[in-house]
Parts: sequence; structure tokens; C-alpha cells
Amino acid sequence: MSLSEKALLANVPTDLFIGGKWVKGNGLEAIAVEDPATGKVLLEVANANAADGLAALTAADEAQAKWARVAPRERAEILRRTFDLVRERAEEFAMLISLEMGKPLSEARGEVTYGNEFLRWFSEEAVRISGRYGTSPEGTGRMLVAQRPVGPAFAITPWNFPLAMATRKIGPALAAGCTMVIKPAELTPLTTLLLVKTMEEAGLPAGVVNVITTSTSAATSAPIIADRRLRKITFTGSTPVGVKLLEQAAQRVLKASMELGGNAPFLVFEDADLEAAVTGAMLAKMRNIGQACTAANRFIVHESVAEEFGQRLAAKMGELKLGRGIEAETTCGPVINEKARTNIQRLVDASVAEGANVITGGESRDGEGYFFEPTVIDNVKPGSTILSEEIFGPVAPIVRFKTEDEAVALANDTEYGLVSYAFSKDLKRGLRLVESLDTGMTGLNTGLVSNAAAPFGGVKASGLGREGGLEGIAEYLETKYVMTPDPFL
Ligand code: NAD
Repeated sequence: MSLSEKALLANVPTDLFIGGKWVKGNGLEAIAVEDPATGKVLLEVANANAADGLAALTAADEAQAKWARVAPRERAEILRRTFDLVRERAEEFAMLISLEMGKPLSEARGEVTYGNEFLRWFSEEAVRISGRYGTSPEGTGRMLVAQRPVGPAFAITPWNFPLAMATRKIGPALAAGCTMVIKPAELTPLTTLLLVKTMEEAGLPAGVVNVITTSTSAATSAPIIADRRLRKITFTGSTPVGVKLLEQAAQRVLKASMELGGNAPFLVFEDADLEAAVTGAMLAKMRNIGQACTAANRFIVHESVAEEFGQRLAAKMGELKLGRGIEAETTCGPVINEKARTNIQRLVDASVAEGANVITGGESRDGEGYFFEPTVIDNVKPGSTILSEEIFGPVAPIVRFKTEDEAVALANDTEYGLVSYAFSKDLKRGLRLVESLDTGMTGLNTGLVSNAAAPFGGVKASGLGREGGLEGIAEYLETKYVMTPDPFL
């Protein structure tokens, strides 16, 4: 381990953060956080149990009323100061993301810019929460409509974007006047811990954000969700876990936001700019080593260009340099763990057994870490297993189509509906696709849609609610309506 890595890790808190204090928790065995490129332990962090989870909720609840009354400008300033500090320390955050999650440093820098932007964006939104005042239709009263913070929120985040998934929830919650408990994924908790330490420096009052890291997510989360002091749950992760959490939330009629799994179709038409399509495909497929909810999971390509598209994509994939994310020459990191890698291999092998052919890659790489070769598979048959599950790895399956109707039907043939991508130079076709594709978001001639200013989210089994944009803060607000008699009567 180089000195700078040591110094970086020495600066990361490893305790729980409850009521403005770093505490050890109730002594369950510490969680070992691994570097997926080496399989070696980076740091050990505290392991919260159910009592610690409830203590965090108590702290959030006790801080709620006061935080809701803090002037919006002051709430905004805390977010903005954090944004400035994270920007100053961008390299530190990027390295930490790369170390615990495995993505190349260049991509980790991109995540810092993207993730940090949610803090700036919502610092700007905090002062724009508004209401309305009007005369009732019959003229006998005055009607006021106000927006109020919903109350303490519980945020559960996944491992794949350790900074952005936290800021996408912390930003709008704090801007709206909600306090929170956040539970990062046990695989990558370090970035959230460093972020909250940075928020402390930026003037975060005690109890407004509480962090619990735990290896017993279900047992620690369930009592929090069942507790009547909690008013909101916001989750990003897989659809099966989202369903479990929604079942628990339903028992309390809890306001819920769910950012769940995806199975993004990537459509390439015969009139597409193939160069742009391949560039877009690399972005949509390989960002985060294919481990993004927005990852292109199914390449649906017109039969007349499929051969060329496949070859060009395979050539680009073949150029990628696998390695530890923090090494300068690395352009593709490992996948997160052995379980993920075994699952990717299973999907690749199944598609070959079902009649597809591998153009490049197709295998795990021997040696330390959890590497899988960047892979392109052509002639995947509609109905194949690989088309119905999230691959979550560097594998691009190509399915060929003949007509636009067939392409749309293939694209929509999934329970998921997060994002779709379509490449065509024909504007009318592009707009037809935007209207026909059953997804919350579409990238038209681009492989990247994520932006703090945009309402990110899905339809169908991909979730409920939106994060970012003008819509993001609404998830943390409740509407309060007031009636009062006409003051002139
Ligand atoms: P996951 O569902 O396994 O875990 C997500 C989080 O939930 C983790 O913090 C985990 O500890 C926690 N968790 C797991 N079981 C729980 C339970 N029973 N009760 C409470 N908490 C529980 O997902 P993951 O593997 O961390 O992330 C990958 C998934 O996340 C993919 O499906 C991906 O598509 C999805 N994702 C979605 C978005 C989006 O915005 N739609 C963004 C990123 C990732």
C-alpha cells in the first residue's frame, strides 16, 4: 500500500455517527471492507445492531423539529459548504471510491463531480420551496397551500456509486428540512463516512444526518421502518429488496421512494451514426464496469448493421486495460465480488448454450481480484436468460431485429423500465421511440443520461419516485392545506 493510500484511509472515520458523535455501537464483529481489485482488507468499520439503528432514529427524530425551522438559506449553506469542501478534496474522494468500489480513477473523478453536484443543486432548491394563496371558488374563504418536510427519513444505498447514491438522498432531504438516518452498503461504506465527516466540518448540526454501517441490514433496518417516528423511506438497490422494503413500509403507510433495478435496451437503427452508437455503447455499457442500474443490458441492433456494430464494439472493448482502479493506466476495474463474477459467467455460459456466439472476452481472469473480461456476444436469441436479468458486469449481448415494431417490442419485453437508449438520425423515428419505449428515461443518440438537474427514475419494477431535478425535493415534502374565512366578512 502506498503512503498516500495509507494517509487517505487514516482520515476515514470507522465508527457509527449518531447524534453528532462518532460511536462504536454495540460491539458486533467489525465489517471488513475489501478492495475488489486485490481481495485485501482496506479498513474495518463498526457494525450496527438493531439497538444502534433505533438510537440513530432517536437522534434524527430529536433533531427534526429544530432542523425544519432552520432558515432555508442556512440549510442551503451547509449543503453548499459541503459541496465546496468535497470539490477541494475531489482527489481524496475519487481515490477512496476507486479503492472500495474498484472503478478506474478517471471514472471515480467523474462520480465526484456528478455526485457532488446534487449537494449544489439542492442547496439552490432549498430556497425555492413555495406554496400558494387564493380565494375559495365561492369567495367565502382563503385557501393556503404550503410544503412541509415530511419528517425523519431512512435512506438505504447500494455499493455501486458510493458518493452519488448518498448525495442524491442527503441533498434533497436536508434541503427540504428532513433529518435522516443513512445506511450505506456494507461493501462500500467508506465514502459515506468520509462525506459525513466533511458535512460536520461544514456545520452540520447534531442529529441531522446519522450513519449506521451494518452487516445485518434486514435485522437492523426492520425496527427502524416499523417505528412510528420514521416518516419516509428512500431506497436505491435491487428490485427484490425494494419489494421487501415496500411491504414493510406498507404496514405503516410510509412515504416511499424506490430507485430499483434496470434492464436497459440500447437500440441501434440502420440509419444510426455507427461511430456515435459505439461511443454511446461504451459509455452506457462500461461506465462502472457495467455495474450501473442504467447499464445497457440488451443491444437491440438492426440486422443490416449488427455485424459491423458488434465488431467495432468488440474492438473498443478489447482495448480496455484491466487493473486496479487507482493505477493510472487502468480503464476497466474488477467487478465487486466473487458472487457477482460467478453470476456474470453463468449468464454468459447460458447465452452460448442458447445459441449465441462470443466475439470477444467471455471469461473470468485468473489471479487476484474479481476481474471479468470485457465481453461482446452476438446473435443472442430473444427470450435468452441473459436478456431477462441484470448482468451487472462488462458484458454486451447483441440481439438482431428487422423492423422498428419488432425492436420496440423486444425493448419493452421486460418487467423493468428505468432507461432506454436509441440511436437513429431520423428525428421522427426518435420521437416515436421516446413515446413508445416504456422507461422513465431515454437517451436519444447518447449513452449517458444522469444529471443532477434531471428527474432520474424508472417505471414498472424499476421504482417509484424521482431523484434530482425539480422533482427530487418533492419526495421529501408533504402538502399542507389551510382554509380560513374571508377576512373581510
Ligand atoms: P441490494 O438491493 O442488494 O442492496 C442495496 C442496499 O440495501 C444495501 O445497502 C444493502 O445492505 C441493503 N439491503 C439488502 N437487503 C436489505 C433488507 N432486507 N433490508 C434493508 N436493507 C437491505 O443492491 P446492491 O447490490 O447494493 O446494488 C445493485 C442494485 O441496485 C442493482 O439492482 C441496481 O440496478 C440497483 N441500483 C439502482 C439505481 C437506481 O437509481 N434505480 C441506482 C444504483 C443501483
